[in-house]
Amino acid sequence: MSGDAEAAFGAVADELRVRILRELWDAEGALAFSELRERVDVRDSGRFNYHLGKLRGRFVEQTDDGYELRYAGQQLVSALYSGVYTEDASVGPSPVDGSCFDCGGDLEARYEDEHGHVECTDCGMNVVMGGVPPAFVDGREDDLATAIDAYLRTQIRQCTAGFCPECSGPTTGRLAVSDYGPQAIFECGRCGGEFQGTASMVALEHPAVVAFYREHGRDVREVPVWKLDWVAQPEWDGDEARVTVAVDGDELALTVDESLSVSGAERA
Ligand SMILES: [Zn+2]
Ligand SMILES: [Zn+2]
Repeated sequence: MSGDAEAAFGAVADELRVRILRELWDAEGALAFSELRERVDVRDSGRFNYHLGKLRGRFVEQTDDGYELRYAGQQLVSALYSGVYTEDASVGPSPVDGSCFDCGGDLEARYEDEHGHVECTDCGMNVVMGGVPPAFVDGREDDLATAIDAYLRTQIRQCTAGFCPECSGPTTGRLAVSDYGPQAIFECGRCGGEFQGTASMVALEHPAVVAFYREHGRDVREVPVWKLDWVAQPEWDGDEARVTVAVDGDELALTVDESLSVSGAERA
């Protein structure tokens, strides 16, 4: 580390100085000395002035209007924040390999409001959408769609195994009516969390489906959800859901019962 960098790290190696930088970052404009001290919440004016002095010049400048961050100060605060995604974090959109089930249009992935989306750029259909925590996206921005797919599959595995992805409490599943055909809903008895998707989701990695894909030389666990058009199209069959998996012209018909168990699988 060069002497210069050491001095820079030294200048901010203090919790009070970090608080000063953050308050200046959050402020709308320049802050007067007394206003800044109030926000940082330090009574001892001498102590406050000492630490502010260590930042002045390199990170903070004093203008006629008061104190404000210099470019290096802004860089520093943004680096401090970069490891901690906030609720406002948004990533993308970025192009996705695949096409829309409905209209054949191009797909793109984006992360916004703590939700991951893979959607059609032509008709706007949300091919994949689900709640994804910001920390999961951190570091996966370059392949957002794969991260969304992996996260949602993990949630489905947890729900179908009977435990809540949020709190690990027991989940119960049921079928529900929706505009997109039969819907799978898992509810947690402990935290009240609710997770939903098409009824086909519960069959995504069912042994019969895994074996069917394997017969066709593919691993269904490695095909992203937006390339499995059958997942989007469950149908009602009385009180149960019927899921038809089609690969290379062959079909496998699955039945998902009211409690979201796969109750039957037969080759069509
Ligand atoms: Zn479309
Ligand atoms: Zn829960």
